Amino acid sequence: MTGHQLRLYNSLGRQTEDFTPSADVVGLYSCGPTVYAYQHLGNMRPYVFADTLRRALGWKGIAVRHVVNITDVGHAVADSDTGEDKLELAAAKELRSVEEIAEFYTQDWLAALDALNVQRADVYPRASAYVEQMIEFAVRLEELGYTYQVPSGLYFDTSKSPGYGTLALLDLAGQRETGRVEHVEGRKLGSDFALWRAEEPGVRRIMRWNSPWGWGAPGWHLECSVMSMSLLGEHFDIHTGGVDHRELHHVNEIAQSEAFLDDGRPWVRYWLHNEWVLLDAQKIAKSAGHTLRLADLVEAGYHPMAYRLFLLGGHYRSQLDFTMTAMDAAQATLRRLITRVAPLRPLPNASTLDEARELADGTGDKAALYVEAVDAAIASDLATPKLLAIVQDALRDPEMSVDGLRVVMAAADALLGLRLGDLSLADVDQRRTPSDLAPQEVAAIERLIAERTVARKERNWARADEIRDELDALGVQVTDTAAGPTWQLR
Ligand SMILES: [Zn+2]
Repeated sequence: MTGHQLRLYNSLGRQTEDFTPSADVVGLYSCGPTVYAYQHLGNMRPYVFADTLRRALGWKGIAVRHVVNITDVGHAVADSDTGEDKLELAAAKELRSVEEIAEFYTQDWLAALDALNVQRADVYPRASAYVEQMIEFAVRLEELGYTYQVPSGLYFDTSKSPGYGTLALLDLAGQRETGRVEHVEGRKLGSDFALWRAEEPGVRRIMRWNSPWGWGAPGWHLECSVMSMSLLGEHFDIHTGGVDHRELHHVNEIAQSEAFLDDGRPWVRYWLHNEWVLLDAQKIAKSAGHTLRLADLVEAGYHPMAYRLFLLGGHYRSQLDFTMTAMDAAQATLRRLITRVAPLRPLPNASTLDEARELADGTGDKAALYVEAVDAAIASDLATPKLLAIVQDALRDPEMSVDGLRVVMAAADALLGLRLGDLSLADVDQRRTPSDLAPQEVAAIERLIAERTVARKERNWARADEIRDELDALGVQVTDTAAGPTWQLR
């Protein structure tokens, strides 16, 4: 198998490079969720992206071991080392134990991954099971002279790390002056980060461990270094995550890991980052008050594969604008695709380039050309929009036979994962009508519409827009007529 050389955009150096595995089984680590709340729509993009990467490696005949961590030891906020533990806060708010909270949201997240046809990782390590190793890791860093202790815990001294911030193209001096860094007593540099967060005097945390630096909890960055090394070996090939991690979390992972390994080699060879999903031009994030979930889309009548199709319609390094209009378009495209591909079933198994080539050779039409085009697209830094275009071109091509189309659809879907081989139109079309709704749901919708009418009369456009967004999220389409507003489900 050769085909087109697989090329990936490496954030380390910011350029597209040939991907060459360093071992028979490529180690792939993806930063996973913090399980104190539901994962919103935007949070699912990193996993669909990592899944695409895995499928691409498989297509090229490269074996992969994929590890995705589960952060069940809370951390304050993504860019903070101090403060309240979010898991404990969630537990207090919901009156459940931290273990129950973590398990509940972990299962909810896994179910969403399944619905999105994301292949399960080989291991989902839980941070709480690795605290002893994290302590050993920090002890080693202390022995090597990379740390110092302050009242709030043990800190990594970034001034001792010669390459600190290379991944983020960080100007350390600049970050020190302008960075939004909270004050930590005794911290030498704003970039220094906690390896161990000491328990505050008089506060007894639920999730607490004893350590050479007293009772407390590990710093967030530590878990990914420790779990990836213990499950994939000290060095491995690919680390993925959202682009937000490129600026801080991954910078700190690299600093502490390379200090720990102390062997003069880069810890991980390829760093891949996916861009945001934007909602109304804002990053979808809990802090912005939006918590739109996959389950909300399903509730509104969209199939999870329509969301996957929406994601794959953009390159993973492009920001995507999420709108209900875009979801409508994705749902319609999915419906057309399934309608067109269903008569071709069963699709053959063509999950590698070799298999697809062999099958295409037997068809006597242009299938072989399309298979090479599929290979070129995925090899070119996972160009999924191009793959989708190839699928449409092949379906429209009068020179393609049924057998040829079967091969091309199977090959493309091995990479896209849209379930072209088995998804039924009835599944896709489970859109509801008002008669499917419970009376209280109808009442709630009509109450919102009445409120909107009042807001419009009062010329309170901001409120009217807000209500329209709420209705949008419920899949309700309002039409204003002379006789007043009417509505239907999309
Ligand atoms: Zn991580």
